[in-house]
Amino acid sequence: MSAAAEKPTVGFVGLGHMGAPMAANLVAAGYRVRGYDVVPEALAKARESGVETVASLAETASGAAIVITMLPSGAHVHDCYEGGQGLLAHCAPGTLLVDCSTIDVFDARELHLAVARAGHRALDAPVSGGVVGAEAGTLTFMVGGAASDLQEAEPLLLVMGARAVHCGDAGAGQAAKICNNMLLGISMIGVAEAFVLADRLGLSQQALFDVASTSSGQCWSLTTNCPVPGPVPTSPANRDYQAGFAVALMLKDLRLSQSAAQASGALTELGRHATEVYEQLAAGGAGHKDFSAVYPAISEASGRMAR
Ligand code: NAD
Repeated sequence: MSAAAEKPTVGFVGLGHMGAPMAANLVAAGYRVRGYDVVPEALAKARESGVETVASLAETASGAAIVITMLPSGAHVHDCYEGGQGLLAHCAPGTLLVDCSTIDVFDARELHLAVARAGHRALDAPVSGGVVGAEAGTLTFMVGGAASDLQEAEPLLLVMGARAVHCGDAGAGQAAKICNNMLLGISMIGVAEAFVLADRLGLSQQALFDVASTSSGQCWSLTTNCPVPGPVPTSPANRDYQAGFAVALMLKDLRLSQSAAQASGALTELGRHATEVYEQLAAGGAGHKDFSAVYPAISEASGRMAR
């Protein structure tokens, strides 16, 4: 039996910025991948990397032991799972459905229940690492669901990524993702404000970086994705804030954090404020820029205040 024949056939729904390279990496590792997207250009691109493209969700499900979804939002995942034309109605009993999209925690829990009611198994497995990580196969998966199901999915996840962390039961992967990204959004604003204050006090950006990056102020937003040009040459600040992790995606995750905070009764005042800051940034036309573009926005607003 060939190595490819021993591997389960994978259904893959959503072949966009993230899904296309993830599916391509599975093909390169010897998996047979049946891919579906509503956009013909996405299907054409996936075919170039060896994905067998199909014309419906039912065909995606046919013969697949594992079905991965990588879709824009929870509403899209509901659409693809449910209804007479959806995956749940067409998957073989006991199929493992792995949703890698970033969606609302409560949506994810509902979807786990719907999957179980239909006689299948579910994992929520959102990712961090962005398009670069998807292309390089270095994503981190944050996984919610049964440990035995993660064990089954792990060989595939470790083709598409470098790590798969079991975070707990249904929805725990999504919870980890939005808690992490709320913290990231807040920390980037904190770092940007520190650089703006340093500017106004006549302290050089390099001096602040040299101190904060080796002391208690250090964090990823400073040491890897530094929002001022110079101290970290690979940071998006050095290429006119070309994303990276776009403001629009940060805003999506912050909004998910705020809806989860409201639904669960968590007080996240800084998360709420960060959401407003990124809303303003997106409304000003910077939605496509890296989220570190919050530094020039705060710097400019400070300049206006000083005048
Ligand atoms: P994308 O918009 O590029 O891709 C989504 C794909 O889903 C599109 O090709 C779209 O045509 C397809 N689609 C939509 N509805 C469909 C349906 N009913 N049936 C089949 N296909 C359908 O988005 P993306 O950047 O690939 O992101 C996907 C998910 O990953 C999102 O939830 C996002 O929040 C998350 N994510 C993205 C990044 C990133 O850097 N882009 C990083 C981490 C997580």
